[in-house]
Amino acid sequence: MKITEVKLGILSVPLRVPFKTALRTVNSIEDVIVEIHTDTGNVGYGEAPPTGVITGDTTGAIIGALKDHIIKILIGRDIDDFENLMKDLNSCIAKNTSAKAAADIALWDLYGQLHKIPVYKLLGGSHNKIITDITISVNSPKEMVRDAINAMKRGYDTLKVKVGLDSTLDIARLSAIREVVGKDCKIRIDANQSWTAKQAIKLLNQMQDRGLNIELVEQPVKAHDLEGLAYVTKYSHVPVLADESVFSAEDAFKILQMKAADLINIKLMKCGGIYNALKIISMAEVVGVECMIGCMLEAKISVNAAVHLACAKQIITKIDLDGPVLCSEDPIIGGATFNEQEITVSNDFGLGIKGICKLKYID
Ligand code: MG
Repeated sequence: MKITEVKLGILSVPLRVPFKTALRTVNSIEDVIVEIHTDTGNVGYGEAPPTGVITGDTTGAIIGALKDHIIKILIGRDIDDFENLMKDLNSCIAKNTSAKAAADIALWDLYGQLHKIPVYKLLGGSHNKIITDITISVNSPKEMVRDAINAMKRGYDTLKVKVGLDSTLDIARLSAIREVVGKDCKIRIDANQSWTAKQAIKLLNQMQDRGLNIELVEQPVKAHDLEGLAYVTKYSHVPVLADESVFSAEDAFKILQMKAADLINIKLMKCGGIYNALKIISMAEVVGVECMIGCMLEAKISVNAAVHLACAKQIITKIDLDGPVLCSEDPIIGGATFNEQEITVSNDFGLGIKGICKLKYID
């Protein structure tokens, strides 16, 4: 199976409601799509969301990295030469993890199709269902309570609440949410780098004193403040999940060595795809640090790849793959079934994506 052509496109999917965090507000998903075509007629699909504020990867940067570097090393290559393909993909350009992830996902899709096996089984997976949380955007306490009630009605038992814009309001928001969802609903919070280590300890203590029972806190401090992250991990009773602090396998290695976090959030767009995610997973397995698998605001193609990984690896105990359910429509044919909090992986070969409606190809 040889690569003959790589096509790029833009996929636009409106969100049900605007997505708001401490870093940004987004109204629709606008992702770069990669289609790798082969001489056997098989097509591999990949996707990359431009998340400049987190990864630094804009739409133009993703397309540029693919056109000027990645596609050049793919054309004419044999899919079965997989290890070399992965090494070349990762060394043909520095950084640019979103573009690399899109290509990596499309290549795993083809590798599974070539060997006639779903990717999660290729990776040793034996279960086909996972349960995701759902994100509650930063809004007024009243709106957040409304969104939390809606999520409960839709069957979610774990909420991921965005915090960090205003500390006093955050406690009011979380108290209001805890009151309406009851004690059985899990509440995890994501501060998206908003606090200093000392602020984080103070706020987390206040939250627990009020009986908010926070399951975990994601990225309380700045991405590069590993000492601060380690401080919060050491002195907070709430488990700390590293997100923006861990992009690469090298980042994960450092965090694990420093014991700077209780958990690691793996996102394919941060690490550059499944191949690199497997390195982080192996290290986490060695030291027994559980992982979350998360996504950016992404449509179903790249999230579907994360679903395969989550179904394969038991060290991934927390799932934050709500990108597709935040969309108001689903233009992707095939792949995992997203039924609110329950996600079922497909047993089709590769990653199981069959096609995309309304894809705008670019030259
Ligand atoms: Mg996060």
